Amino acid sequence: MYLVRNTLVCLLQSEYRKRGFQEVVTPNIYNSKLWMTSGHWQHYSENMFSFEAEKETFALKPMNCPGHCLMFDHRPRSWRELPLRMADFGVLHRNELSGALTGLTRVRRFQQDDAHIFCSIDQIEEEIKGCLDFLRTVYEVFGFTFKLNLSTRPEKFLGDPEIWNQAEKQLENSLNEFGEKWVLNPGDGAFYGPKIDIQIKDAIGRFHQCATIQLDFQLPIRFNLSFVGHDGDDHTRPVIIHRAILGSVERMIAILTENYGGKWPLWLSPTQVMVVPVGPTCEEYAEKVKKEFHNSGFMTDVDLDPGCTLNKKIRNAQLAQYNFILVVGEMEKSSNTVNVRTRDNKVHGQRSVEECIERLKKLKASRSRNAEEEF
Ligand SMILES: [Zn+2]
Repeated sequence: MYLVRNTLVCLLQSEYRKRGFQEVVTPNIYNSKLWMTSGHWQHYSENMFSFEAEKETFALKPMNCPGHCLMFDHRPRSWRELPLRMADFGVLHRNELSGALTGLTRVRRFQQDDAHIFCSIDQIEEEIKGCLDFLRTVYEVFGFTFKLNLSTRPEKFLGDPEIWNQAEKQLENSLNEFGEKWVLNPGDGAFYGPKIDIQIKDAIGRFHQCATIQLDFQLPIRFNLSFVGHDGDDHTRPVIIHRAILGSVERMIAILTENYGGKWPLWLSPTQVMVVPVGPTCEEYAEKVKKEFHNSGFMTDVDLDPGCTLNKKIRNAQLAQYNFILVVGEMEKSSNTVNVRTRDNKVHGQRSVEECIERLKKLKASRSRNAEEEF
């Protein structure tokens, strides 16, 4: 599963590059004083793992935001630097009750495709548009459709109602311009800011909440964050947008596993290519083919089990959901080719090793959802 995790992280990283996010690394452990500043100590400490060191209390981070606030605040900031987008795959720990732990969906140690955008009030609309476009791009790759809800100011809220109104108006504008249907959930926002809830629909029609886009007016106040505005005022307060698309990467792997029913698309598959020699005289050639595919970046295995018939080997590879099965016999050996078939038993026939590698590379790079057919 670690291979799937890395491929998901790479997908996000390539989008971060295009979309002006900078990836950062922040510590896992902070003094409890930081958690008092952020408010986690007062409201969330029973979910945090803490311990003593040098007569002070420290805790493992359950979220990345406070660390990012420290990074924002480590030197004076100017409006020219905004929006500042920090992405972090940092390891998070939350002390869930042992009875609540399940598989990969509810765990105590996980990573998020977390990011925080520090921006000015008037940049909210553009940034939210960017967040929505980003999540559509990622969900389209998986083949997920999604539902959008805008949750607005609750009865008990903190901050200036004028700022709330202005921000909610911008969220509405972004949603309207985005062009997908959305629903208003009046009064359902967090006390510290309005948010957009996103629910994805998987292949079997179930809904999952993974992505979040949450505005936060309070954390910048708690950390006393400011930047030098257009007008030279050095006490201008930024807004923080908390956002994640996959949510917990571990949980997303669980959702994707069920969504694909174990049939991973080629680009995400931990079992991409199986090489099957027809008989003992072709084994050396099979190993050579395996090495070439491996060196070209594919997860490749070779089946050299002497106690297995050819048909059984092909069947085993199909059951193990290898996307492509390359059968090699004397003819293939003498012509440097492979005989291509898929896990769904589609036979593509004889191809040169070189051509086959090029084709698979293209299908992988395009993140095709049906590489077996498109080959
Ligand atoms: Zn956050």
